[in-house]
Amino acid sequence: MGYLDGFKVTLKTMFEDRVTNEYPDEKRPKPARFHGRHVLNRYEDGMEKCIGCELCAGVCPARCIYVRGADNPPDAPVSPGERFGFVYEINYLRCIHCDLCVEACPTEAITESKLFEFSFTDRRDAIYTKAELLVDDQGRPQHLPWEDWRPGEDEHTSAWVRATAPSGSAAYEGTVQWSGELGYGVRAPEPGQSADEPEPEGPESAETHTP
Ligand code: SF4
Ligand code: SF4
Repeated sequence: MGYLDGFKVTLKTMFEDRVTNEYPDEKRPKPARFHGRHVLNRYEDGMEKCIGCELCAGVCPARCIYVRGADNPPDAPVSPGERFGFVYEINYLRCIHCDLCVEACPTEAITESKLFEFSFTDRRDAIYTKAELLVDDQGRPQHLPWEDWRPGEDEHTSAWVRATAPSGSAAYEGTVQWSGELGYGVRAPEPGQSADEPEPEGPESAETHTP
């Protein structure tokens, strides 16, 4: 190929559609069930959902959750019930974002957001503490200094837990089964979570419903 042929290739590609984008200023939309870093949720009245039961820590295959529960002070309870999560830590140098902790949690306290763009200059920052994981007074994740996220990326913090199936029971199809959250109330079902919606089309759906 002579050098003129090389220029031809350059000129041709200059007018083709770009397949890359200006990351991180332009980001692709994240899938509905994307697994990012966790948040600890609160009920609509501000109480914490975590009851310190340690099920999440027990199920975690990477052993990266550390929880210590404590009795709720009777005059100023932190969560409904007897116990609350007194210490809660997740080590993001080990987490594989499998979501088993989310599936195991009986109170929907721990869920995964779609935030994943963070880089640490200090290994200690990779261990998120309860104070960092807990949603703020508007029910939103806290924006930590080493995290890169843009407006709107902190929404849908509990999408994954709300997408889980009702244990295969048809009686609960399309019925909202999640509790209200601070700042959001009881969230409406998302696409694919309601039995009233039409079946999605496409090869993936055909594969899923093959008898
Ligand atoms: S997502 Fe998986 S690896 Fe990460 S903390 Fe939860 S259970 Fe552990
Ligand atoms: S996050 Fe859920 S599973 Fe983990 S200790 Fe709290 S209540 Fe239990």
